[in-house]
Amino acid sequence: MGELTSLTLKAAVEGLKSKRFSSLELTQAHVQAIEAARGLNAFVLETPDKALDMAKAADARIASGEAGPLEGAPLGVKDLFCTEGVRTTACSKILGDFKPTYESSVTANLWRDGAVMLGKLNLDEFAMGSSNETSAFGPVSNPWRAEGSNQTLTPGGSSGGSAAAVAADLCLGATGTDTGGSIRQPAAFTGTVGIKPTYGRCSRWGIVAFASSLDQAGPIAKTVEDAAILLKSMSGHDPKDSTSLPVDVPDFPSFVGMSVKGLRIGVPKEYSAPGMPAEIQALWDQGVEWLKEAGCEIVPVSLPHTKYALPTYYIVAPAEASSNLARYDGMRYGLRAEGKTLTEVYENTRAQGFGEEVQRRILIGAYVLSAGYYDAYYLKAQKVRRRIADDFAQAFETVDALLTPATPSSAFALGAKDTMDPVTMYLNDVFTVTANLAGLPAMALPAGLDSQGLPLGLQLIGRPLEEGTLFSVAGALEKAADFKAKPRVWWRG
Ligand code: GLN
Repeated sequence: MGELTSLTLKAAVEGLKSKRFSSLELTQAHVQAIEAARGLNAFVLETPDKALDMAKAADARIASGEAGPLEGAPLGVKDLFCTEGVRTTACSKILGDFKPTYESSVTANLWRDGAVMLGKLNLDEFAMGSSNETSAFGPVSNPWRAEGSNQTLTPGGSSGGSAAAVAADLCLGATGTDTGGSIRQPAAFTGTVGIKPTYGRCSRWGIVAFASSLDQAGPIAKTVEDAAILLKSMSGHDPKDSTSLPVDVPDFPSFVGMSVKGLRIGVPKEYSAPGMPAEIQALWDQGVEWLKEAGCEIVPVSLPHTKYALPTYYIVAPAEASSNLARYDGMRYGLRAEGKTLTEVYENTRAQGFGEEVQRRILIGAYVLSAGYYDAYYLKAQKVRRRIADDFAQAFETVDALLTPATPSSAFALGAKDTMDPVTMYLNDVFTVTANLAGLPAMALPAGLDSQGLPLGLQLIGRPLEEGTLFSVAGALEKAADFKAKPRVWWRG
């Protein structure tokens, strides 16, 4: 049964449709793999009974010829998506045992199309982090280790559980969310594919909010085609989210494998970060070569405001977070700490319920929004955000997509970044936050291994609503890179 877990989503769905195996068998294989991989700490809640019930229902629909596009495929869900009757924590103590009475639109779309839920996946608390170390459930271990080393590495964050689970074959694909890179950076660190679609492509309804003008859902998958299949199901207009775009969902999988001949690919010079390892530059150069060979035209471009993206993001995101997280007051959800007065209850609940990084973001956010500092920080950041978006708009007048590295390094060790200096962690997001600020679709895919044998990713950024182009270009890169490496299995208990 072991091999069933190593199938791609596409192959699994085909195998189910042609009745080579049942969803029950496929789901059981994944349930067993998850139990044997508890040492990775990827799942914070396993829902095997629900999974097996959903699998049986899927088998019945396959038998009666009513199979949906994801019929019977077992998936993992980042624990930031509300799942009806199933504990949803955002990996924060403050939500306690919160069991939503509703289902997020994105996960509802997946179940509508026949997918099976295996459980809820670990993440940085409220999706704030780049290493999964801020989770109230403890960090996730990256299934990958450097050659000849037993050191545990981070899978990245915040969707660290999602990326690790996909890389370790614990699910056929997973949902993630990306506010500043939380799908793409973990994908790059684990040799998986992740796409953050255009802002508004996926409904935010029922996803625990971090920074509402930046948050987007998207898939983490084993291949470019799997990511396209998942994104197609996850997307779609939703009247329950006022920022959801009223546009049709293209047939994303049909873009994978399309010729990219004649496409113009921009290479932004500002994405050469100082101190970036030579290997990352070499991988980027390799990506350029592969696209040239596939018939693309390479165009050097400039995005002059790139250097302001990180400071802008770390003003806008905390500002919105401080507002969104005001609702956790000990009255409506989960945790309530005692106190002599109402104010004390609020204070004690929030002091005990929120971790250090979340408290830091709330403080920064409240500060940059305060009357005396609003103009100097928040308003200024909004103006710079516009400039960053304008840079992209200008570049997209001459190019169809941009190629950049996904991250400034490969996966680092858990505990490696100085927790006294959060900026060292924030620097990880240097290549990813720009797409969120501009609302653009962006994708990370594995392109090679570094000298330690760890995966490295490339990033593609596209025009608004042109995820299709990204899937075509990513398909060409995937073919050229022929990335087949898998982590050595050390985690089976
Ligand atoms: N690492 C970034 C942060 O900590 C991005 C997180 C995300 O995309 N959710 O804010």
